[in-house]
Amino acid sequence: MKKVVVIGAGPGGIMAAGKASERGHDVILLDKNDRIGKKILISGKGRCNITNDTDIEGLIENIPGNGNFLYSAFYTFSNHDLIEFFEQHGLKTKVERGGRVFPVSDNAKDVNEALLKFLKKTNVRLQLNSAVQEIKTKDNAVIGVVLKDGTEISCDSVVLATGGASYPGTGSTGDGYVMSRKLGHTIVDLKPSLVPLLAQEEWVKELQGLSLKNISISILNNAGKKIYSDFGEMLFTHFGVSGPVILSASRHILDYDYKNVKLVIDLKPALTEEKLNERILRDFEKYSRKQYKNSLDELLPQKMIPVIINLSGIEPERFVNQIKKDERKALVRLLKNLTININGSRPIKDAIVTAGGVSTNEINPSTMESKLIKGLYFAGEVIDVDGYTGGFNLTIAFSTGFLAGINC
Ligand SMILES: Cc1cc2nc3c(=O)[nH]c(=O)nc-3n(C[C@H](O)[C@H](O)[C@H](O)COP(=O)(O)OP(=O)(O)OC[C@H]3O[C@@H](n4cnc5c(N)ncnc54)[C@H](O)[C@@H]3O)c2cc1C
Repeated sequence: MKKVVVIGAGPGGIMAAGKASERGHDVILLDKNDRIGKKILISGKGRCNITNDTDIEGLIENIPGNGNFLYSAFYTFSNHDLIEFFEQHGLKTKVERGGRVFPVSDNAKDVNEALLKFLKKTNVRLQLNSAVQEIKTKDNAVIGVVLKDGTEISCDSVVLATGGASYPGTGSTGDGYVMSRKLGHTIVDLKPSLVPLLAQEEWVKELQGLSLKNISISILNNAGKKIYSDFGEMLFTHFGVSGPVILSASRHILDYDYKNVKLVIDLKPALTEEKLNERILRDFEKYSRKQYKNSLDELLPQKMIPVIINLSGIEPERFVNQIKKDERKALVRLLKNLTININGSRPIKDAIVTAGGVSTNEINPSTMESKLIKGLYFAGEVIDVDGYTGGFNLTIAFSTGFLAGINC
């Protein structure tokens, strides 16, 4: 029997601790918080998108950050194994749009309940309010950990599952990077991913708080090439844009450092330019004696009307029957191609995940063991892996945690 310390009671650490304990090891699971899985509670807007109902290739395709490193982890413990795991621990799941898997209850608390049940069943010694400061080694092998209060715990193996540096209020403050670097590991540059974006245009601020549903977006690079498109919901904020389609889009422009790209919003994706033109023509005939500024109520949300009027270049006081065909057509083009220049992103603390982390070159993909330090294992977001939205990031954490747990 080995003595194993797991640092971090998020999905990666919980899975690793339970699996190691099932193998008969003496396992202590440490977390600095006063409860487990704080990030799980806020995941999926409180509903927790546990995983995705796709095949292994589908998982890898949705993990742009070193997906190939995860083949062993997913073949050992797949997304479907994860769904079964939760069913066995009393959590029923359902599949939604895009293969997203949620608890039937739509409540992330129930995910944590199932995980607590697993920890109890496997006799893991859970020790909360315990922040780890350092991993101790001798001759390049793990010998123990030191807590922030100075307490030392000796052990044969450590699983480092401290998460990334996003949403630090959940406990993921990047401690794992510091500890790993100290042991000689390379930390690939940390970058925010699945993150709200900054807009150059001042008018965006006027739309702060406005949420748009059923819009489509495209992202163009500086050569004007379309690099991404999506359909769904977005939100304007005081700094730029956010919401589901924006967060998803953001990962596709991480390599551009979130700069020199254009976000093009189609406000009326269900209508071709021709149909939209006909629609506006009908509205303009109906409101021919009204001023332009009072003619768009049926077409656009109130908050957006002054912005669109301004961008269209047509004087707001003009009577609708004085608007020329070319001006109307330009309005149609504006509504189909509302363009925002993206010039940055919010910082890592506001990102859903942290891209970058402990280099995958220094971790054995079949065991999650460090290639530098014997007895040191990694699980979850602390590793340089990251996925798109859709349940892929939790799947990474659970599967790498499983692999670390059966090998440590
Ligand atoms: C708002 C939001 C919504 C999200 N929604 C989804 C979703 O629906 N689906 C999805 O797949 N992914 C989602 N994610 C991403 C996903 O939650 C993370 O990728 C995942 O939780 C990472 O798991 P982890 O175990 O690696 O780390 P974490 O869940 O971050 O857990 C790390 C744990 O380590 C502890 N810790 C850190 N340092 C120390 C230390 N020094 N000593 C002791 N303990 C320490 C922390 O307190 C924490 O409990 C979301 C993320 C956010 C922020």
